[in-house]
Amino acid sequence: MVGSTTGTPPRAVARHTAAAEELAAEGRWEEAYEHLRAAMRALGGRPAPTDELDRLRREHAEARELSRRDSLTDSYNRRYLDERLLALLDAPVRSGALGLSVAIVDADHFKQINDTFGHQFGDRVLQRLVTLLDAGLPDGGFCARYGGEEFALVLPDHDLEAAVRVCEAARDRIDRHPWAELDPGLRVTVSAGVAHSDDQPPEVEQVVGAADVLLYAAKNSGRNAVAFRDLRTGLVRLAGPAGRRRVIPQPERTTG
Ligand code: GH3
Ligand code: MG
Ligand code: MG
Repeated sequence: MVGSTTGTPPRAVARHTAAAEELAAEGRWEEAYEHLRAAMRALGGRPAPTDELDRLRREHAEARELSRRDSLTDSYNRRYLDERLLALLDAPVRSGALGLSVAIVDADHFKQINDTFGHQFGDRVLQRLVTLLDAGLPDGGFCARYGGEEFALVLPDHDLEAAVRVCEAARDRIDRHPWAELDPGLRVTVSAGVAHSDDQPPEVEQVVGAADVLLYAAKNSGRNAVAFRDLRTGLVRLAGPAGRRRVIPQPERTTG
């Protein structure tokens, strides 16, 4: 027995390893590495494991990615959406010269889909919806599950016209999708509201709120439509063929 010093190295190793894990989780790689080296020294001067830091870095990146994803659809989740919207307030340059556009997209009559085909089938429809929404996203844009059967499309550096084009293309892609592959009786459509801010930093909360109000205008116009506010007249309009509908609700403009 070497006496009281025998307990010290394992404790020191544990302490340095724990510190390394913690620092790595915060992305402080250099400091984490120093603790790993100290842990190795405490173990008797074996060479520092370069693989170990890589492993920690990889595990941290994987855990971070998982925490940002929705487990059902693998879409980005609400947490990621909130983080990214907050970041746009801190770093206005990221919303780009053309400003920030946000769309809220909601599956039409989704309760009926669940009631007719079952909840698990509904889950598969949601997964496919995410694939279809993701498919047409421009660079820098992303889709996140806002909740239930609702999704947010965030389009930095997109003016309203460009954002409406992206959303109308998504609506059309979903409308034309061969849903009968899943069940011959299935049809799935979505409605969306699109809003825009060219303030720097953008009025994020106001844009999301306005998109939400416009979503309900799209729903009340008969669904399967993308609603936006005409910049010139201030009136609510519907994109694409839905623009010819006779009744388009005109909710009051939200103020921020
Ligand atoms: P609307 O066109 O007005 O949006 O009608 P809706 O039926 O889509 O809207 P409502 O809010 O009445 O119902 C939403 C439905 O979405 C009810 C809820 O059970 C279903 N839903 C929400 N999250 C999930 C999910 O993760 N999986 C499945 N299968 N269904 C979900
Ligand atoms: Mg719905
Ligand atoms: Mg909904």
